[in-house]
Amino acid sequence: MRRFDYAAPTQIFEACALLADRGDDARALAGGTDLIVQMRERGRKVPLIVSLRNLEGFKGISQNADGALTIGAMASGNEVHHSPLVQKHAYFISEGAELLGSIQIRNRGTLGGNVGNAAPSADAAPPLVAAHATASIVGKQGTREVPVGDLMVGPGQLALEPGELIQSFTVPAQPAHTGTRYVRHVPRREMDIAVVGIAALVSLEDDLATIKEASVVLSAVAPTWPHATTAEQTLRGQQISEKLLADAGEAAAADSRPISDVRASAEYRRMMVDVYTRRALATAIERAKTAV
Ligand SMILES: Cc1cc2nc3c(=O)[nH]c(=O)nc-3n(C[C@H](O)[C@H](O)[C@H](O)COP(=O)(O)OP(=O)(O)OC[C@H]3O[C@@H](n4cnc5c(N)ncnc54)[C@H](O)[C@@H]3O)c2cc1C
Repeated sequence: MRRFDYAAPTQIFEACALLADRGDDARALAGGTDLIVQMRERGRKVPLIVSLRNLEGFKGISQNADGALTIGAMASGNEVHHSPLVQKHAYFISEGAELLGSIQIRNRGTLGGNVGNAAPSADAAPPLVAAHATASIVGKQGTREVPVGDLMVGPGQLALEPGELIQSFTVPAQPAHTGTRYVRHVPRREMDIAVVGIAALVSLEDDLATIKEASVVLSAVAPTWPHATTAEQTLRGQQISEKLLADAGEAAAADSRPISDVRASAEYRRMMVDVYTRRALATAIERAKTAV
């Protein structure tokens, strides 16, 4: 591993200034479970590491007066997974966080790091996109809110200006009768990278038989974490049936843009999008029926 300089500022403006001044030569460090591995095993050059560990306002999980949830970017995978607030509010965010490697990785790795690493196969980011969460971005110019779905522009690339950091995520309150599910397909049971991941959110009408709103977001089958928009349109306003879920699965497969690589062919991935979309929707609908 190459030598690097290390800073752990206590002020946000100082962290942003250090990162902005050094541009591509500097990276933010959260848990390091992606960044340090890339530096050590893949020879990634990072002359300056700026740790976020001492910054105020990046930690914790809380509920706001309007019912929305704020999750600090430095909240660890385990904190997010075990949080009763997250589980009550948007269960699939807890499910995605549970899949970040092992217990040890989840104790270090953060939600902000999962989004910040911008891997198409990320597990914790897609539920945030499906829940229409926004990211609070801090930089030298101040703070701005960006939908998490607009943050990733390609593998390893975020729509952030030099020196900007994700401080927290805000997950809006969900309507009554809303259920969620994140499910992924991996060849191994544990410690594997998703071949396909599906984040599904479904809100039902009061009759509990009609879909009012649906959000389906794909992982590992496109360069970003896109909504399966045709699948979502297929579901909205429709009565729940086996055929509807089958149609939505097919539509999501058509919405995906997978590549072939060592883990799976594009054709196999597309088939798995179909299967896992149906499964994710079926569970989300069951959860929506019992949610208040
Ligand atoms: C053995 C192992 C198994 C894993 N399994 C999975 C898995 O199953 N699913 C999965 O999704 N991931 C997995 N990961 C990847 C990793 O653990 C997660 O992506 C984790 O959430 C990264 O968080 P971190 O805090 O460690 O990020 P870091 O490594 O600290 O940072 C990652 C990137 O994000 C940037 N960054 C960090 N925080 C911010 C911020 N607040 N604002 C802007 N940019 C920021 C950093 O500069 C860096 O480029 C695994 C990793 C390992 C080592």
